Amino acid sequence: MSEEALFRSADLIEPGDLVLYHGSIRTHHGLWIALPCRCSNCTAFDELGLPMSRFALADPWGELSGPHHVRRTSVTRSTACG
Ligand SMILES: [Zn+2]
Repeated sequence: MSEEALFRSADLIEPGDLVLYHGSIRTHHGLWIALPCRCSNCTAFDELGLPMSRFALADPWGELSGPHHVRRTSVTRSTACG
């Protein structure tokens, strides 16, 4: 695998991936499950066939509701899930 392909696979976030949130809501910093954002804006984009660009974050333990409409740049795919 080339270095470029390696970088791309590490950069890609898919629904259900474990991610580290480091965006503007400091109290929510930490590990979350990334899901496609389902707000009206993102649903409209989805219907136009545009790729998922915003995420809704779910607590891996199902206890907290996380932030939604999170920018791609506010999350990093966790290496913990290998
Ligand atoms: Zn959204």
